Amino acid sequence: MYRVALASRPSGAPTTENFRYEPVPMPEPAEGEVLVRVHYMSLDPYMRGRMDDAKSYAAPVPIGGTMEAGAVGEVIASNSPAFKPGDFAFGMFGWATHGCLPAKMLRKIDPDQAPITTSLGVLGMPGFTGWQGLMEYGRPKAGETLVVAAATGPVGSMVGQVARLMGLRTVGIAGGADKCRMATETFGFDDCLDHRAYATAKDLRAALSDACPDGIDIYFENVGGKVLEAVIPLMNNFGRIPICGMIAWYDAGGLGAGAAAEGLSAPALWRNILVKFLSVNGFIISNHWNRFPTFLNEIAPKVASGEIKYVEDVAEGLENAPATFMSMLKGGNHGKQIVKVI
Ligand code: NDP
Repeated sequence: MYRVALASRPSGAPTTENFRYEPVPMPEPAEGEVLVRVHYMSLDPYMRGRMDDAKSYAAPVPIGGTMEAGAVGEVIASNSPAFKPGDFAFGMFGWATHGCLPAKMLRKIDPDQAPITTSLGVLGMPGFTGWQGLMEYGRPKAGETLVVAAATGPVGSMVGQVARLMGLRTVGIAGGADKCRMATETFGFDDCLDHRAYATAKDLRAALSDACPDGIDIYFENVGGKVLEAVIPLMNNFGRIPICGMIAWYDAGGLGAGAAAEGLSAPALWRNILVKFLSVNGFIISNHWNRFPTFLNEIAPKVASGEIKYVEDVAEGLENAPATFMSMLKGGNHGKQIVKVI
């Protein structure tokens, strides 16, 4: 079997030198374990954080360790009554062609219910993140206005579609004219702005102000950076900001240099939160898995009926995962980024 290991820690944006594609011995499933041949692997922005040796909500990948990832594949050997060869399973198998995990850490996937790739995106962790963050911390109400960036990704597209179905005005922000077209034509956003088309946060704010004539009630935060600076002054009283991610600053090791460069001073942010009575909630989806069955019950039928759409961007070959990952962090993906491993 093959895997991609973390060869070194990046300083700034990751480079190919930070990854090592290599053969490793095939594991043998012990009592209660299941061996899976991976078909598709997920690439997600959180993996950038795992490459840094920084204190966070999750431990970093050690140097020489397998890069972390959720993946889905076919059971080829099982020492558990819960799985038999031929079953499909989702698990945290990492950037690897095969994975061996205890059965209790796997989720059985029924390929007749939905394509197995959906377990990585629209019906997996990212789709669940969008739904959960919106419902619990966004507290959407019909007639309100919602803004979300990375609008065509699996998180942003779920947020926008659920909000639209609930009767909100939805305004997406995405990188490039083609993604903006996807946001409005495929995902039903009322409007979408290309953040790359505006040199400054001030210019983006002027365009957002036109797109949101009644102000912004919910800003679902995926990116930070210029978009955050543009949005904050447009927030309405009692607005809500679920903080899901801040990808514009991941290479800056979180806040720090990136935030300062965007002109987002702490006093200015703090003052807006106070005088507009904003609710700002950070959340990490791993604390919410108890809600996952409710999410699937509600959203899986809407995906099956086409009421909720999804787009997947499938790269070929595990050896191409590092390049695909680096491209995704800069917006090279069109929809949920997946790697076809076999
Ligand atoms: P996407 O598939 O949307 O990929 C990331 C996208 O971020 C890129 O395609 C790009 O889209 C956008 N982007 C990158 N740099 C910038 C920038 N400087 N300014 C604006 N946009 C930028 O990712 P996901 O849908 O999987 O994830 C979205 C966010 O949600 C991420 O921040 C991620 O870390 C976070 N997340 C948080 C979780 C949690 O538990 N809190 C769980 C899952 C995800 P474009 O080209 O359109 O700009």
